[in-house]
Amino acid sequence: MELLTILNHCYRQQGFIYQHARFGPGKKSIEVAVRPREGSAAVCSGCHHPAPGYDHLPERCFEFIPLWGFLVFLLYRMRRVDCRNCGVVVEQVPWGDGKHQLTRAYMLFLARWARKLSWKETAEAFHTSWDQVCDAVEYVVGWGLEHRTLQSIRAIGVDEIQYAKGHKYLTLVYQIDQGLTRLLWVGKERTIESFQGFFTVLGEQLAAQIEFVCSDMWQPYLDVIRQKCPQALHILDRFHIVANRISPLSRSSDCEIYSATTSRPSVPISSKKIFSTSGNTPRPPGPACSWISGAMKPCDPVSSP
Ligand SMILES: [Zn+2]
Repeated sequence: MELLTILNHCYRQQGFIYQHARFGPGKKSIEVAVRPREGSAAVCSGCHHPAPGYDHLPERCFEFIPLWGFLVFLLYRMRRVDCRNCGVVVEQVPWGDGKHQLTRAYMLFLARWARKLSWKETAEAFHTSWDQVCDAVEYVVGWGLEHRTLQSIRAIGVDEIQYAKGHKYLTLVYQIDQGLTRLLWVGKERTIESFQGFFTVLGEQLAAQIEFVCSDMWQPYLDVIRQKCPQALHILDRFHIVANRISPLSRSSDCEIYSATTSRPSVPISSKKIFSTSGNTPRPPGPACSWISGAMKPCDPVSSP
């Protein structure tokens, strides 16, 4: 089986053909020449409509997913088009995006591995640079944000994460609907303003559709939830509830929890809150809705642990 056959099978490009493949300098890479299919019009990168050709630019390399230890490059002379709407602009090609040196396929490939490994390890594993991995991740995140829909969010969870040294925090907001869990938003610090930033992006109309909110007992989060989602069922995190209740009995190992929680209310602020301290049933992983309807039951917050 020839390399071009494989490429045509896994990465066919409408309007273009793979012309031939050869080894690159030192036989460390494979170079695949690409050319437009006979009679196929170039597409304007501005308005995405076919447009008459204008001229050709010098040959450009687009890096593809490495194969059998070889770096793989697609070589192509980009056409410029004379678009009626946009003037003379570079054509749009399906395998590349703007000035990115990597093909879309390779950026997606690297970004997926960068979820499993560190960016440095990803770069080492595929003989590329940290910058290229960063570029790939930025591209995929940018694409995701551009195509993100915030409709139909019914359950969210908010939590903070500590990073670097000292008390540096980020506020993370997740969608935790059944069948759809995803990170929605990241904000600096863990203040009222941090969390309010999420609702600014979300808008009042969508915020009014939220039915469940999970959080710990961090007061700024409680304040924002009360203000922005008064209609939602508020579920407090089991760990913090338990820590709050057992804190007077704690010793030095728990003193940080104790000091952090004693200044906060230990009774429900809203009658809509559910406390999860009953029983020893571990919290099942997964979305809030199944958690609510499954092992977790509302209970009296003053019953014995
Ligand atoms: Zn155009």
